[in-house]
Amino acid sequence: QKELLKVNNLKQYFPIKGGFLGRTVNHVKAVDDVTFNIYEGETVSVVGESGCGKSTTGRAILRLDDPTDGTIEFNGEDLLSLNKKEMRKRRKDIQVIFQDPYASLNPRQTVFQILAEAMEIQDVVPKDKRRERAIELLETVGLNAEQVDRFPHEFSGGQRQRIGIARALAVEPKLIICDEAVSALDVSVQAQVLNLLKKLQREFNLTFLFIAHDLGVVRHISDRVIVMYLGKVVEIADKKSLFDNPQHPYTKALLSAIPTPDPEAKKERIVLQGDVPSPINPPTGCRFHTRCPFATEMCKTDTPELRNLDNMAEGHQASCHHIEKIFSGDLVSKY
Ligand code: SF4
Ligand code: MG
Repeated sequence: QKELLKVNNLKQYFPIKGGFLGRTVNHVKAVDDVTFNIYEGETVSVVGESGCGKSTTGRAILRLDDPTDGTIEFNGEDLLSLNKKEMRKRRKDIQVIFQDPYASLNPRQTVFQILAEAMEIQDVVPKDKRRERAIELLETVGLNAEQVDRFPHEFSGGQRQRIGIARALAVEPKLIICDEAVSALDVSVQAQVLNLLKKLQREFNLTFLFIAHDLGVVRHISDRVIVMYLGKVVEIADKKSLFDNPQHPYTKALLSAIPTPDPEAKKERIVLQGDVPSPINPPTGCRFHTRCPFATEMCKTDTPELRNLDNMAEGHQASCHHIEKIFSGDLVSKY
């Protein structure tokens, strides 16, 4: 399996200005030492509550923000070494779909103009072929030829997201970053768009980095899942292993909140105490220690590394000092 994207020790600290001279007085540690990879043709989801750093990670890969530290390799190339112009060319390979397609579609452009512009910027289709290609793209995403001269406001939310997908496809990308791409849609429309994405993935060998907070959606679409908490990765596993055998106390709490279809199924809801702390001066040691029902003294000082877990599926990793003790029952919940 070919590694398409490799993110190593990514840090994104945003300066907070203040004081008399507007100096940098502190940093928001939005992403702090995040490492993961994505293989070609895979869908990897990043989940976590708002503020965990998942969108920031996506923006860094797109170079919408330049990271503070770390490396991002795409197709064997170091993205962070590219200048703005070179990076714009690379956007042919890495596209993004945002939550609100309406905000990213120019209301004064027809669908044809929107798609033709994308083709022109990346120089993928000659001018006289763009209309034909635009119609083909619309049909690929489940819209039809007659809609090519309409404006975004003439479409429903789900249809607009299909236009956003068509625009991403127009440049024949390898990787598409979907940042809450279906979050604003009704559940039935969500399922249609997710199924469309899966179909397109098979057809065009696309790779997806899927940023979402909805675990039902993530369960539907992912091959592997990355769980983030306060700028750190706390667990990575293939979907089945993660949903069947979550290991990190935070992942367990997060998953316990998903409603089960079977009302008879006994599932204990773990309600975490307190709120997510601020990413400015986040907790020392394990960042989850202020809310973790298993935290010990060690957790307040020692930062746990992401590590492979015995008895778990290959590639299942979590960052917690006490996984084994929690599993064996030697450490019990304080809640
Ligand atoms: Fe909880 Fe400690 Fe594990 Fe962090 S390292 S998740 S605080 S038990
Ligand atoms: Mg976000």
